[in-house]
Amino acid sequence: SPYALSFEDVGVAYRVKGVEQQILNGITLNIKNGEAYGIVGESGSGKSTAAFAALRYLPSNGSVTGGRILIDGKDIAAMSERSLRQVRRTSVAMVYQDPSRALNPSIRIGRQIQEIFALSGVPRAEWVARTIDVLNKVRISDPQRVMDRYPHQLSGGMQQRICIAMAIASNPRLLVLDEPTTGLDATVEADVLDLIQQLRQELSTAVLFISHNLGIIGQICDRVGVFYAGRLVEEGAAHELFRAPKHPYTAGILSCLPRAGRTKSTPLETIPGVPPQPGSIKSGCVFASRCSIAAPRCHAEDPQPLQIAGRMTKCHYPESVDAMTIEPPQRLE
Ligand code: ATP
Ligand code: MG
Repeated sequence: SPYALSFEDVGVAYRVKGVEQQILNGITLNIKNGEAYGIVGESGSGKSTAAFAALRYLPSNGSVTGGRILIDGKDIAAMSERSLRQVRRTSVAMVYQDPSRALNPSIRIGRQIQEIFALSGVPRAEWVARTIDVLNKVRISDPQRVMDRYPHQLSGGMQQRICIAMAIASNPRLLVLDEPTTGLDATVEADVLDLIQQLRQELSTAVLFISHNLGIIGQICDRVGVFYAGRLVEEGAAHELFRAPKHPYTAGILSCLPRAGRTKSTPLETIPGVPPQPGSIKSGCVFASRCSIAAPRCHAEDPQPLQIAGRMTKCHYPESVDAMTIEPPQRLE
């Protein structure tokens, strides 16, 4: 298959107190082999839900309510538990926001990594060498020393490097990174992002990178999907989407980004209002209640995906978005 991961019109719901709450709606996206695809969206927009659904790792109250999810062209819903385990071991790997929860606190780092090689059938004689190799790949200069450590003896940045090492140990087709740097301080975050970028060039792995930070997505990703209230509202090449967004929500989050020339004391604009609660969306566009260019049609009619300027947008008035994003002329002092 040319695609490492495909979502075809996928819906996901969680059952809460006996009531199904629809979280993801009509998500369609394709991640090509070797491509870095970013999902951006605010907290609660359904980014992690999409990542968990992709690995058939939804919590027990979650379910896929429609559509198909394919890994390397294979429908994951149709897989037996056994072949699913095989896929998770060899085709996809996930790195989570909190490395300390992903690592087993009572097992030395070296053994945790070697377990991956054991599970993927690597001969025992090669485990140590392969562990050192994978630690070198994540730029750990003294692998022997780190292998003897327990997770709590390492810094957060180091722990996340270990998690990335474990994720790439099985040479996956797809690497899912869900807010991998959120818990790290700024300089460590920059180092880990650098590492991810370098690994992208060295490995042919496709990457699904999830973040609420469009700036970070822009550094790492070739293409971007913008999530809003469980919908994919815009999708396109990262540089084009940044230059000229075609959905007012994308334009809004772009204007919230700090830009060169702004001092720290300048307050960043934010989009007024809050996203609709799951289950409260009745008719029209999900973004209409917060949209500064919404017209009557937007409150009545749910926009269908529209192909324009090399990307997909779910907006009735994509041309009007251009006017929102013109920067006021810079004053020369
Ligand atoms: P964040 O940026 O905070 O990580 P997110 O975009 O990853 O947010 P999700 O964690 O996917 O968002 O959550 C999407 C919605 O689903 C939210 O409204 C959340 O409260 C709800 N939700 C998530 N997990 C469950 C669950 N196990 N049961 C019920 N509702 C859930
Ligand atoms: Mg999340």
